[in-house]
Amino acid sequence: MATIHWLEEIQSRKDDLLADAKGLLAIKSILDEDHSMSDAPLGKEVKEALDFMLQLGKRDGFQTKNVDNLAGHIEYGEGDEMIGILCHVDVVPAGEGWTSPPFSPEVRDGKLYARGAMDDKGPTIAAYYGMKLLKELNLPLNRRVRVIIGTDEESKWRCVSRYFETEEMPKYGFAPDADFPIIHAEKGIADFYIIQEDQPSTYEGIEVVSFHSGQRLNMVPDHAVATLSLHKDTEALKESFLDYLNTHQLEGTFNVEKDEVVLEVKGKAAHAMEPNNGVNAGLYLGAYLSTLELSSRPAQFFGFLYDFLFKDTRGNKLGLKFSDDITGDLTLNVGTIVYQKDGESKFGINIRYPVTYSMADQLGSLEALLQDKGLKLADFDDSKPHHVEKDSPLIQILQKVYEEQTGDKAELLTIGGGTYARSLQQGVAFGPLFPGRPDVAHQKDEYMEVEDLLKAAAIYAQAIYELAK
Ligand SMILES: [Zn+2]
Repeated sequence: MATIHWLEEIQSRKDDLLADAKGLLAIKSILDEDHSMSDAPLGKEVKEALDFMLQLGKRDGFQTKNVDNLAGHIEYGEGDEMIGILCHVDVVPAGEGWTSPPFSPEVRDGKLYARGAMDDKGPTIAAYYGMKLLKELNLPLNRRVRVIIGTDEESKWRCVSRYFETEEMPKYGFAPDADFPIIHAEKGIADFYIIQEDQPSTYEGIEVVSFHSGQRLNMVPDHAVATLSLHKDTEALKESFLDYLNTHQLEGTFNVEKDEVVLEVKGKAAHAMEPNNGVNAGLYLGAYLSTLELSSRPAQFFGFLYDFLFKDTRGNKLGLKFSDDITGDLTLNVGTIVYQKDGESKFGINIRYPVTYSMADQLGSLEALLQDKGLKLADFDDSKPHHVEKDSPLIQILQKVYEEQTGDKAELLTIGGGTYARSLQQGVAFGPLFPGRPDVAHQKDEYMEVEDLLKAAAIYAQAIYELAK
């Protein structure tokens, strides 16, 4: 068989590819549950984006299937086994400050700008054109190929949950929804709360009226505020607080309002997958409070913070420390802290754990430790780690294709976050962001270099071919 010039083949289809990409990008497919309908559970425009893709499939002579208007697929070829490419057509809200309207896609300086250009509509079209090229070249395949289209990746993954309830799991697959070269291991992600129930103090001291830090478990909070009942010696308190800020090189404020003192600390936000990249404002403010003569209930709560959470992003003091050669350290982020004088108080925890660890197995000893401190664990939610072995045929083939087409080494990456690939049994994240390119997903002026879009399509075409032949 003659050599196939994958990139040239894709380049000769550039105009069609861009026209279809722009058609998809023009749909404002943001989750809209307020306007949920029986045939459009996630909103009219999300459904419209799914229909758009299925319509392309029909136009080009493929089999298509809509699965409860939450997901669907476009299928090519014959064979018992199937190769799946998992994409999504929902997008996050546009936000403010765009140079050109986010849903009026346009090419400037070789870049295709629109919400979804990189995440994940551009790559969806690239993968689709990869499969379409195989059909047009009439290449013989032994396995079927499916472009699977989800519509809820940015929120609750109801698309893939529903899809795989009834639809076949691909033999091998990839998700063009993260980085090139290949992400083959993703840590497990566990969320839970550590709760102190409402209870009277057994001795009186400074009262913490309220304490708030953080909005979400997967971020290091950059702000914390505490309100204390007025301390007799406000001046001494102020001095010690400012001293504390100074010692730890933190910004913050001290204010007296009516009969209360309000303390604020600023930190630095970071993604929970590496809490050491941030400065946790909540932990710093909480650790300061733990040094005061508090009433017994806040003393217990903030004492626990100081003893078990402060300056410990590896979970050492909670007995969770673990590391492996594949994905490195377990990390622990305290994403939210809420204390209420009259009410339940809690720490919101996000843990990213290595692929060879089982978070669920640690719950017994963690619960025992918490109980001993008058606290309890609640709302445990676990997304298991995801890992495809280095020597699996999937990895070998994707590495070969990537190296042939780019001339660069296809290093295997591991991450603390989760990618869409974890919903596949044998699946990895494969592109679309090339090494060295800025990650503009979810930001204003999101774009994808047109050259990269075509390169990705050519890589996907050959990858699908090699996996399915
Ligand atoms: Zn995505």
